[in-house]
Amino acid sequence: MVIHLKHSVELAKAQELASKIGATHFFDGKKHVIVTSSKVKEVPELLADYVEDHFVMETDIQLASRDYRSEKRGIKSLGIGPGKTAIIAGPCSVESYEQLDTVAQFLIKSGVKLLRGGCFKPRTSPYTFQGLGLEGLELLAQMREKYGLKIVTEVKDSSHIADVIAHADVVQIGAKAMYDHSILRACGQSNKPVLLKRGFGTTLQEFVQAAEFILSQGNSEVMLCERGIRTFENKTRFTLDLTGVAFLKHHTNLPVIVDPSHAIGYRYGVPDLTRAAMAMGVEGLLLETHPKPEQALSDAAQQLSLEEFEKLHQSLHPVATAVGQQII
Ligand code: PEP
Ligand code: MN
Repeated sequence: MVIHLKHSVELAKAQELASKIGATHFFDGKKHVIVTSSKVKEVPELLADYVEDHFVMETDIQLASRDYRSEKRGIKSLGIGPGKTAIIAGPCSVESYEQLDTVAQFLIKSGVKLLRGGCFKPRTSPYTFQGLGLEGLELLAQMREKYGLKIVTEVKDSSHIADVIAHADVVQIGAKAMYDHSILRACGQSNKPVLLKRGFGTTLQEFVQAAEFILSQGNSEVMLCERGIRTFENKTRFTLDLTGVAFLKHHTNLPVIVDPSHAIGYRYGVPDLTRAAMAMGVEGLLLETHPKPEQALSDAAQQLSLEEFEKLHQSLHPVATAVGQQII
């Protein structure tokens, strides 16, 4: 149950009430909100005098649910919201100043405003490139200074979370990190928008519940990113779950982003999958692009060359128009 307390209720009282009933509490900028398990169907007696409004929920998809808040949330600082599709593009990993600067210049020319690039890479093997770490974050920050691009970069574990939050405009939580509750809580307590990726063995219910950890700490700016799930199929890296995208669009109030690059894992299929996702009217597309994809230090097989990216980018406009979306 989501419970809105009366505006007159102060912080200490709200905290006391939440703790007495073992519930979560946050301030949404206007009022204190208490969230209990969805199994609670009646307002606890202890709260009766303090409640302005309450919402009985079917499952623990609560704050993210359209049953709680029917209108879609947006990300103010990025202009992301209903009717807009943001392009987020850049290399898998930040590798060098030259590499990043080439991509950044190219994105500016293409009208793309969000630059992605990983600095702490959650690699499957410990013997491969693990990312430039803090040095990479500083390179990304330089691109923001130089070109005005917004920076999207991922946090892999809690050892560097403060650095990522300090340098990024959007904190990406990767498919492997999405179960890390210290990351989810730290992002919930920050004021940076969060791009939460779906784990590749994660059900839609679990995925949205991970977003609830962030929302219930008071950060309302969370995007859900479908990036492919593991199925019996092994000809492609993962399987892009567009069915899940339809579910997320219908049942949740959060912006939905699709990442076709990590889903298929091979560049040949990225353009078709991107257009398919565009046709679903999603709020964002996350694409890997690299000046020399075959030499990339991570995810070399799936990154588009800058020319391939531009061709794809152009081809998205008629699809966007057909479904009433504006590419930003
Ligand atoms: C990435 O975006 O580079 C990445 C590692 O993605 P994922 O967490 O989806 O594997
Ligand atoms: Mn990658």
